[in-house]
Amino acid sequence: MNHLQQRKELISAVRRMNKIGINHGTSGNASVRVDGGYLITPSGLAYEELEPADIVEMSFDGEVSGRWNPSSEWRFHHDLLVARPDFNVILHTHGKAVMTLACQRIELPPFHYMIAVAGGNTIRCADYATYGTQELSDNALLAMQDRKACLLANHGLLVGETSFKRALSLAEEVETLCDTYWRILQTGTPVLLTETQMAEVHAQFAKGYGMPQKDE
Ligand code: 13P
Ligand code: ZN
Repeated sequence: MNHLQQRKELISAVRRMNKIGINHGTSGNASVRVDGGYLITPSGLAYEELEPADIVEMSFDGEVSGRWNPSSEWRFHHDLLVARPDFNVILHTHGKAVMTLACQRIELPPFHYMIAVAGGNTIRCADYATYGTQELSDNALLAMQDRKACLLANHGLLVGETSFKRALSLAEEVETLCDTYWRILQTGTPVLLTETQMAEVHAQFAKGYGMPQKDE
């Protein structure tokens, strides 16, 4: 079978999303870049039951090979992998804290320095569009500009990274940031970091802290 190792890693990654509580059930989906295209989780199948042969292979020219339909969100996986050579892995989750803020269509401001792990001083919330549509993909790509993560209005989270390890780490971090932010909103007005303070954080991150440095 083509890309057996990547198929196994894709299955491990979606199982891990549920195990660590940043996703549930058959919600969410994931993809990984391969030569000329990508592997993606099938639509609506339980992650625990997935086998490597259940993973769908899609080429950037639109060829589909597999025994199941690809994730209904293949458009944003496809479009991100084409538009963003810095991404090899895309994860989409429906975590409780992420959904809480996505349903309020809240952009995360720099209330904590770890906001910088997503690449900027905010984590945007993409405009609402029906799941599985080209409009949702277009909105998501805009919100991901210069970022590695964004919320999807009334829906969930999207992250892109170089490896499974980094993508899972980023998705878990954003879930934690969302969980923290809604608590802050309950307890008062957030005290935001300034642009200068965030620039200092980005400079510190550039030295190597903030996310796993090794992808093995
Ligand atoms: P799929 O099972 O088709 O990937 O859909 C899950 C989802 O999260 C849709 O946004
Ligand atoms: Zn979804």
